[in-house]
Amino acid sequence: MQSLEEILGECERLHGHMCAGQLLGARMALLGCRLIGIEDPRSMDRKKLIVWVEIDRCMTDAVSAVTGVRLGRRSLKFVDYGKVAATFLNTEQNRAVRVVALESSRALADQRYPTIANKRERQFHAYSEAADEELFKTELVMVELRESDAPGSPRSRVICAVCGEGVNDGREVIDGSGDSLCRGCHQGTYYSRLDNPTA
Ligand SMILES: [Zn+2]
Ligand SMILES: [Zn+2]
Repeated sequence: MQSLEEILGECERLHGHMCAGQLLGARMALLGCRLIGIEDPRSMDRKKLIVWVEIDRCMTDAVSAVTGVRLGRRSLKFVDYGKVAATFLNTEQNRAVRVVALESSRALADQRYPTIANKRERQFHAYSEAADEELFKTELVMVELRESDAPGSPRSRVICAVCGEGVNDGREVIDGSGDSLCRGCHQGTYYSRLDNPTA
């Protein structure tokens, strides 16, 4: 197992800068993995660990760096709750723990190190020295990993009856007349098309 310093070095490389969010995310990931019985996440079978992160901010990259989970490997899931929280699932034991940064952890830096003028340094001290219980709430949870969400090659592929684009892994919707539609054609897209469609 690497030291926290080595781990943070990798977080910095992946994320592009060092920040308090990296430290918090790294500690969250180490704690979450430990609580589901995974001591060295990056040297184990890649399908053993699935992580759901609830925010797309600094700490998300740290969780990915520490554990090796990746969106492109389907081992990292993003649930857009805007919370500094993540759930760690050991797929072999079906044991899952959700770890949430405590609201009170935000004030720790100011309370404990009032003499350090630089806010970033205060946060680094606080987040490296505080006990896990001071930083995080942890809870055992049940989380379902559906077959169509699991790592491995795509389980199915259909062509959308409206746009003709391919849809993997059962993300299509069957409409009233039995046609397979992509979600964009069924419920609207996050983008809107311009008059001249060719880029
Ligand atoms: Zn950052
Ligand atoms: Zn479509």
